[in-house]
Amino acid sequence: MIPNVLSIAGSDPSGGAGIQADLKAIAANGGYAMAAITALTAQNTQGVTGVETVAPAFVAAQIDAVFDDIRVDAVKIGMIATAGIAEAVATALIRNGARNVVLDPVMVAKGGHRLLTDDTVGALRDRLLPLADIVTPNLPEAAALLDEPEAVAAAEMEAQARRLRHLGSRAALLKGGHLTGAQSPDCLADQAGEIHWLDAPRTKTRNTHGTGCTLSAALATRLAGGCDAPAAARAAKDYVSGAISAADRLEVGRGHGPVHH
Ligand code: PLP
Repeated sequence: MIPNVLSIAGSDPSGGAGIQADLKAIAANGGYAMAAITALTAQNTQGVTGVETVAPAFVAAQIDAVFDDIRVDAVKIGMIATAGIAEAVATALIRNGARNVVLDPVMVAKGGHRLLTDDTVGALRDRLLPLADIVTPNLPEAAALLDEPEAVAAAEMEAQARRLRHLGSRAALLKGGHLTGAQSPDCLADQAGEIHWLDAPRTKTRNTHGTGCTLSAALATRLAGGCDAPAAARAAKDYVSGAISAADRLEVGRGHGPVHH
């Protein structure tokens, strides 16, 4: 069976992040990809120049239209932008009985542009985290959700991954890409609270636009395909590592270019 995977996220017209990355990652991991759009961004590899958000009721209408007709095996949530959209997405996912929900709590684009309003962090934590099977923050996002300083070492990452579960997500995959060592380890606290470390060598490239989107979309697809959380996380991490390694084969823009699916 080919899993049907719905991404609820923002659009990146330069194709590196957001919905565009998700569609490629879902297809490459063996899923059928669908997309409900929360916001349009105007951006390229050098930065974000504008954001237009979609009315919350229309985000919900997109989600309902998909669920009304199609069996949805997994949902990936990316850029949410406003507290109103967070509320609409949460209500729609509960109404439709969504399964295998992966929440990527997108906050800031690679170039530093904030992709959500300040009150959206609380809405992500209170409304969407409790619906998530796995939440996939990077270190700054985890610190914002937990309202504590950023982890700088393995022991703190383990403790934060556990605390993210206490906020309501069944499992938490804390991404160590912002660490500075030779490895780029991610820490998974699974449904039982067991810790699994996923190691990968750090690839030297500035073309990493869309890595977070790609990881969470691949993860949702692997969960829908029947993997448990540790196996799905390992497969998604391997997929992203390959996409980062191949990024320099692309010639896309003059800034932080995309990874290659
Ligand atoms: N979603 C959208 C629409 C974006 O524009 C971005 C970054 O620019 C992201 C998500 C997050 O991107 P990344 O996967 O590089 O963290």
